[in-house]
Amino acid sequence: MSAPANLIDGRAIAEELNRATAADVAKLRQRGVEPCLVFVRVGEDPASQVYVGMKERVSARLGIRSTTHVLPAATREEELLALLARLNGDPAVHGILVQAPLPGHIRASRVYSTVLPGKDVDGFHPENVGKLMLGDTDGFVPCTPAGIHELLVRTGVRLAGAEVVVLGRGNIVGKPMAAILLQKAPHADATVTVCHSRTRHLAEHCRRADVLIAAMGVAEFVKADMVKPGAVVIDVGVNRVPDPAARGGFRLVGDVDFPHVQPVAGRITPNPGGVGPMTIAMLMRNTVRAARRATAS
Ligand code: NAP
Repeated sequence: MSAPANLIDGRAIAEELNRATAADVAKLRQRGVEPCLVFVRVGEDPASQVYVGMKERVSARLGIRSTTHVLPAATREEELLALLARLNGDPAVHGILVQAPLPGHIRASRVYSTVLPGKDVDGFHPENVGKLMLGDTDGFVPCTPAGIHELLVRTGVRLAGAEVVVLGRGNIVGKPMAAILLQKAPHADATVTVCHSRTRHLAEHCRRADVLIAAMGVAEFVKADMVKPGAVVIDVGVNRVPDPAARGGFRLVGDVDFPHVQPVAGRITPNPGGVGPMTIAMLMRNTVRAARRATAS
């Protein structure tokens, strides 16, 4: 069966971006700069292992050198901060990514504010978060919302004046997503509503949306009757649901009830194959930008 015509093909758009990034890497290498990205993973969370593995493979494919530090789950916060300080001080390292989630005894806020803003390719340092809020395009923007923005722009979705509803106010997706789309800037200028677990009449907000972005981490939460016909629907969620028929006893689903929402939506991301590849593509682009800046003469 052929794919529905209204799918937003995140894999194909990510590949376009990756081709441009690979060309930028080649230019850097020509002048003797080898872009280098370092991953830090703490503990053996299976999803984190998969995510870091995917990022390593794309790095290698684009010519970006990557190394991964795997620390035991019991690592003390000070030890992790000491590693980050060493990486900050190493001129051969251009980007540093500390994979979330971190074990509960490590304060993510301390970790994110320790990575140098110029190497913070995840965009979580308070300086980069502040720049995003202020509309200063000089900082690094978190990869998942930046990738969603790129998807919307490259799909030709008109954002100026559009009603956008973001489901979820997390620091990794929801909040930066809202900040990107409400800027007074080209490819933004949207009217943004952010919903969360205390939002009243959430379905009514959703039904108003021209663009609905689901980033909650609740399996198949968005149903067909919550979506305005013709709306653009972006599914960010990655949720494990039990499935005795699947290998490993579970399968991954998004935050959107895809089979029922897809016929109502104007455009919709598949999941997987929508937001995930874009997140990685933006990470690669941020890394090249960090390398270019660190080595500009
Ligand atoms: P998060 O920080 O845990 O935020 C989840 C948000 O959803 C919170 O604001 C929470 O509200 C809200 N929420 C949860 N249940 C709700 C409900 N029943 N009704 C309304 N709001 C609800 O999560 P995150 O880090 O932003 O990630 C969100 C999802 O995106 C996860 O599934 C994650 O795996 C996925 N993700 C995907 C990618 C990718 O590349 N594809 C990247 C990053 C994240 P409160 O604030 O009130 O608690």
